[in-house]
Amino acid sequence: MVESPRKSRKKKPDLTPLVEEVTDRLIIENGYDAIGIPREIIRRLVLEIVEGIASQMSSKPKPGPVFNRIKRNIHLFEKALTAKLAENVDELTGDMAEFIITRNPEFSSRIAPLLYKRLVDLGRNDLIEILREQWNGIHQEFYLYCPKCGFKSLTPDFKCVICGYGPSEEEIREFNRIDQLLEDFIDTLDAESLKKLQAAGFFYFSSKIRIPDSPREPGESLFFLSKRDKARIIARLHEIGENL
Ligand SMILES: [Zn+2]
Repeated sequence: MVESPRKSRKKKPDLTPLVEEVTDRLIIENGYDAIGIPREIIRRLVLEIVEGIASQMSSKPKPGPVFNRIKRNIHLFEKALTAKLAENVDELTGDMAEFIITRNPEFSSRIAPLLYKRLVDLGRNDLIEILREQWNGIHQEFYLYCPKCGFKSLTPDFKCVICGYGPSEEEIREFNRIDQLLEDFIDTLDAESLKKLQAAGFFYFSSKIRIPDSPREPGESLFFLSKRDKARIIARLHEIGENL
């Protein structure tokens, strides 16, 4: 009798009932249904985990231990879940977006431009505020706030990486109180520095204002002196008994 090749191969265990059971327990225990997270997304994630566990075991895994293992690392599970949810940002509800933002701030900041757009569509200003705070805390490489979205997200060449807005120099100066910062800066300068600044006709700005006595550094923005700035420099020179 010829044995069929199918019979001789070791049969792969059917993991479906296990995956279904663990999926349901996770949904109930963590309230994922109330958030509106599609069951299918959770099921796919559980399947990936179960397949990983099964490949390391000689016997078929059991629901209890699998569930407990995921529960012990629930923060990792939810981080993976946020990434899966974010695959379709345009379909996120407010609750789902909130889940992503609160469970995985670092990831939220990475996809902040997409999340921001979705939150604007949903009218969720409360979540935009949270996202903005997270972004501003994580991304220290930006120095200027965008007048439109309020994130600290303007490139040195004045383009917003969150909302795409390209504000005018005037708008940026006003929103970021550059005039005040410059005035305070001018008040700290000696005559020589004041004359250097006046002669240059512009200044650099990153974490602070800088007289352009060396080439522009990465991250620095360039602002031209306004008539008002120039008048302030002359007034300051007079104050300290100097003339241009
Ligand atoms: Zn913006």
